[in-house]
Amino acid sequence: MLSLLACAMALCGQDRPNILFIMSDDHAFQAISAYGSAINKTPHIDRIAREGVRLDRCMVTNSICTPSRAAILTGQYSHINGVPVFNRMDPARQTVAKLLQAGGYHTGMIGKWHLGSDPQGFNFWRILPGQGLYHNPVFYDTREAVKHQGYCTDLITDFAIEFLDKRPSDKPFFLMCHHKAPHRNWQPRADKAEKWKNVEVPLPATFDDDYSTRGDAAREATMRVDRDLTPTDLKEKPPEGLTPAQRKRWNYQRYMRDYLACVESVDDSVGRLLGHLDAKGLAGNTLVIYTSDQGFYLGDHGWYDKRFMYEESLRTPLVARWPGKIPAGSSSEAMVLNIDHAPSFLTAAGLPVPADMQGKSALGVMAGKPPADWRTSMYYRYYDYPGAHKVQPHFGIRTATHKLIHFPKINQWELFDLKADPRELNNIAAAPAQAETLAKLKAELARLKADAKDDDRFADKLPPGGVDGPMKPGPRAPR
Ligand code: CA
Repeated sequence: MLSLLACAMALCGQDRPNILFIMSDDHAFQAISAYGSAINKTPHIDRIAREGVRLDRCMVTNSICTPSRAAILTGQYSHINGVPVFNRMDPARQTVAKLLQAGGYHTGMIGKWHLGSDPQGFNFWRILPGQGLYHNPVFYDTREAVKHQGYCTDLITDFAIEFLDKRPSDKPFFLMCHHKAPHRNWQPRADKAEKWKNVEVPLPATFDDDYSTRGDAAREATMRVDRDLTPTDLKEKPPEGLTPAQRKRWNYQRYMRDYLACVESVDDSVGRLLGHLDAKGLAGNTLVIYTSDQGFYLGDHGWYDKRFMYEESLRTPLVARWPGKIPAGSSSEAMVLNIDHAPSFLTAAGLPVPADMQGKSALGVMAGKPPADWRTSMYYRYYDYPGAHKVQPHFGIRTATHKLIHFPKINQWELFDLKADPRELNNIAAAPAQAETLAKLKAELARLKADAKDDDRFADKLPPGGVDGPMKPGPRAPR
């Protein structure tokens, strides 16, 4: 075994790239200037896109934190990896980290983990318990729990740089750098809050959506900017005497200023990490990815949060740089999923992709050469109900031109023509003229559901939660 490994390392030698995977939590593509943001600037994330590729159809398979993280690590849908909601991931599961570590990589995981069990497959890890704190957070590492002084995004960056500096020089590295920011309740660093406190953030086009053509699910959801943000989210009392429309706008400005101030620290972090790669001569042989665990509603449809299969939370940003492999300044509308990350990393490392991973390597897409048989439709499924925001369970498909969503508990369908109605304001599932399209899409949905081996195993019974309380403090498992 050892000689096989030595042989593999000699064959691949220095050619195997380092992999730096930077993921934030709830960072919407609408708040990244490389994606045309009208509300902020993200120069460092933009740099990755300028020197690499921007994916315009990167999507998640279940749009909430814990399931997305499990999907990324396993390359599998929630019903296969066993993490459909905020339940603990079985640490015995196969993950991309374990496979890369076994394949000769020096592996690290720093920041928000949120899977309820200690990480495995990492030479070094230092994680936030549960959601973690923005200010002076506790981190757990392989030995102990320590309260650190400082701002979470900056600390995660410091730890990531320390990991890079202490790594063994004879191995390529794989580092997952997972920010807590800009997750609710959006607590910026003081100087960033000050910078944003009087900024007037433009409203999105669908801010006053009244959901009149959608089904009951959109109306039932409790994630509205006008009524569902809490005093903890808003942090200030609104002025007296506001009309409902004024109050909704005041709420929006209050939360968006904090959100964008948090994003600015994340972008600064990306800048520091890119600068460190430059300074250490690592930029040329490192695949750098910036993404989020899913998208987010920034007042779109009058909402905050995620969960729904509508575009703003189905899509997630992804920019990637790998000099010589990914053309600089390119973009792609090919559909890439979060379950593709694990196969992509293994392929970049020259390692085999296990047959039970459901994603496919997206390296060809990133290189501007997608395989001829690349997917033209994708399958999505969300389970967490009532959860924090009463978003009905649903599943559906997105094609290049349409989206079909089924809400099984209330037996309702939604169909959107994404070319004619990119903002998904008009559900046309009941329109007689759409009968043929609807039938075709239902057939495609059945095909993709079967292809994903979704047997409805979590349709009626979900595993218990268990990742949001504090993890057990004290001595951690040995490395
Ligand atoms: Ca998230």
